[in-house]
Amino acid sequence: RFIVFEGVEGAGKTTQIRAIADWLQASLPSEVPIFVTREPGGTALGQEIRKMLLEEDSPDIIAELLLYAADRAQHVAAVLKPHLEKGSIILCDRYTDSTVAYQGYGRGIDLNLIAQLNGIATGGLRSDLTFWLDVNAAVGLDRVRERGAFDRIEQADLSFHQNVQRGFSQLAKAHPQRIVRIDGNRSRDRVQQDIQEILTQRLGL
Ligand code: C5P
Ligand code: MG
Repeated sequence: RFIVFEGVEGAGKTTQIRAIADWLQASLPSEVPIFVTREPGGTALGQEIRKMLLEEDSPDIIAELLLYAADRAQHVAAVLKPHLEKGSIILCDRYTDSTVAYQGYGRGIDLNLIAQLNGIATGGLRSDLTFWLDVNAAVGLDRVRERGAFDRIEQADLSFHQNVQRGFSQLAKAHPQRIVRIDGNRSRDRVQQDIQEILTQRLGL
């Protein structure tokens, strides 16, 4: 099973994924492998690409788009497909919806081009379930800035992040089966509880 977590900066994806991984480990028989990964940066090549993406001052937006796609192609081929074939449950921090939200709604690149590129990079591999942790863009940015470590994208204007947020919201409307919206403005524990409930239903735990 391929489970993805999406959302704006400071939505709590990484925290929730860690907690879910621990919980799955404890609830499932030990022979079911749980695998946690992320984009960009889920492979050695991807880590190089991630550095390039976050350190380059203001890359051309198409160059940026293609780097995310290259990261994804490598991740799908070298990590996601092999793990799915051996029966792992994959928890992935960001996937194709981030490209639609950030490069499409955020940077304004044509959505058809992005859909095409996502198709090429993934070879058609879709998530079985995507949690959209929905937090207000300003609240998320505050959280990120409080913890101090911010990259060039986390420093972008609030309006950019609001466009990204609008992207996630449109995606959730367009794919109500695949994308489950979780209200991420609540406490970490409440959010965790909701995710666990949904996974219990969907995975038949
Ligand atoms: O998820 P994480 O915060 O680690 O992602 C690294 C950075 O890359 C973030 O600042 C995120 O906004 C940005 N990003 C992006 N476009 C994507 C995926 C991530 O701008 N498609
Ligand atoms: Mg970030």
